[in-house]
Amino acid sequence: MSAVEIAAAVRSGQQSARSAVEECLSVIEEGDAEVHAFNLVTAAQARTRADEIDAAVADGRDPGPLAGVPVALKDNLCTRGVPTTCSSRILEGWEPPYDATVVEKLHNAGAIVVGKTNMDEFAMGSSTENSAFGPTRNPCDPNRVPGGSSGGSAAAVAAGFASIALGSDTGGSIRQPAALCGVVGVKPTYGLVSRFGLVAFASSLDQIGPFTTTVADSAAVLDVISGPDHRDSTSIRDSLPPVTDTLDDGVDGLRVGVLAELSGDGIAPDVSARLRAAIDALESAGARVAEASVPAAVFGLSAYYLIAPAEASSNLARYDGVRYGLRMDASNTPDMNTATRSAGFGDEVKRRIMIGTYALSAGYYDAYYGKAQKVRTLIINDFASVWEQFDLLVSPTSPTTAFSLGERTADPMAMYMSDVCTVPVNLTGQTAMSVPYGVGDDGLPVGVQVMAPALGESVMFRAAAVLEASLR
Ligand code: GLN
Repeated sequence: MSAVEIAAAVRSGQQSARSAVEECLSVIEEGDAEVHAFNLVTAAQARTRADEIDAAVADGRDPGPLAGVPVALKDNLCTRGVPTTCSSRILEGWEPPYDATVVEKLHNAGAIVVGKTNMDEFAMGSSTENSAFGPTRNPCDPNRVPGGSSGGSAAAVAAGFASIALGSDTGGSIRQPAALCGVVGVKPTYGLVSRFGLVAFASSLDQIGPFTTTVADSAAVLDVISGPDHRDSTSIRDSLPPVTDTLDDGVDGLRVGVLAELSGDGIAPDVSARLRAAIDALESAGARVAEASVPAAVFGLSAYYLIAPAEASSNLARYDGVRYGLRMDASNTPDMNTATRSAGFGDEVKRRIMIGTYALSAGYYDAYYGKAQKVRTLIINDFASVWEQFDLLVSPTSPTTAFSLGERTADPMAMYMSDVCTVPVNLTGQTAMSVPYGVGDDGLPVGVQVMAPALGESVMFRAAAVLEASLR
């Protein structure tokens, strides 16, 4: 059952929230030893909350639009009194004193948290192999990675451990794992969803978004979690009209651009073939398709891998052994800081902190960070002119299907290349989503990325719904 169907059944009293939760818990029990989607399963709290929802239904109170829907949360979303680890040793033992805004909103909408999901440490990675707690496996093939950094959330939805999951997307960490696991994944417009309570990686790029099995479910989740929040200073003040309302409006007459810079070189032939099939489906539904060019998009990855580490080096300075989690003993404070950070952070996090600190240091700031910011502006300007001619853009989400565990861990550049199609829209703040669109030569899922201008979620979801329907 989809999340929308579960909520309808729970609200009408046809199914209890408790049975929806028990079903997920037993699927987790059976399958998560192999997949390792979860860092923590919150079974007891989930049962208690389910009984509250069922009591509300029995009393005739409205349990909310996502009543009884089991949800998995990426482990960088703060949950009050429940460990939030970012899959890092450095947060060992830390329990946030508050809930993230999205967690609060899901709770108020009747959704039930079943656990916290595994991720690349501090969301740095594309395979979930950079977790301090061991990798997550792809439910479609346990020898493959689920993508990352929100690999646990993508795997949880793909394996049926939860109907919906939340992840965070700084450079593709929702869309790429969604593509590799064969589920829907959405990166909302920057500022549409509050980041309050999301542990910061690169604050100018981070956004929270849903993973679901259907497009309608993602629309329903987005409608619940979006909206202004005074606790996030970058939150957009206006609310968007519900995406759910226009889901079935189709794409007749819409101008769709195939983004040349992200759809040619370096894309595996079987992935390109699925993109062509998706383009055909949009055309048959009445869209006018042409090639689109965003020349500066080719610099996206280079700019991203300076800006994101620079912001990370600053954000991660707070893990000093004093305020959160882990502390290693030493005879003086600086040695304690060093010992704590040396023991608490994994290799990739250390690599990013060093790159970012270097890029921000006096003497190199203009040459690296300053230049990357200028390139970011070029990319923003190039997209702005393309939006004068197109309503939507499409590309593959990931250049390849899921790769094997261990295949790219020794080569950071090969790992970073996984994000080549997804990072540009984080730099611009636009919205984009990955829609599963069949399988590649290896039988593993392929995702098609649909991109829209800032706050273009409604149009983007219309195209996603058309793509989904074309496969039925
Ligand atoms: N894979 C990219 C990185 O390692 C994106 C991560 C993300 O979106 N959180 O930075």
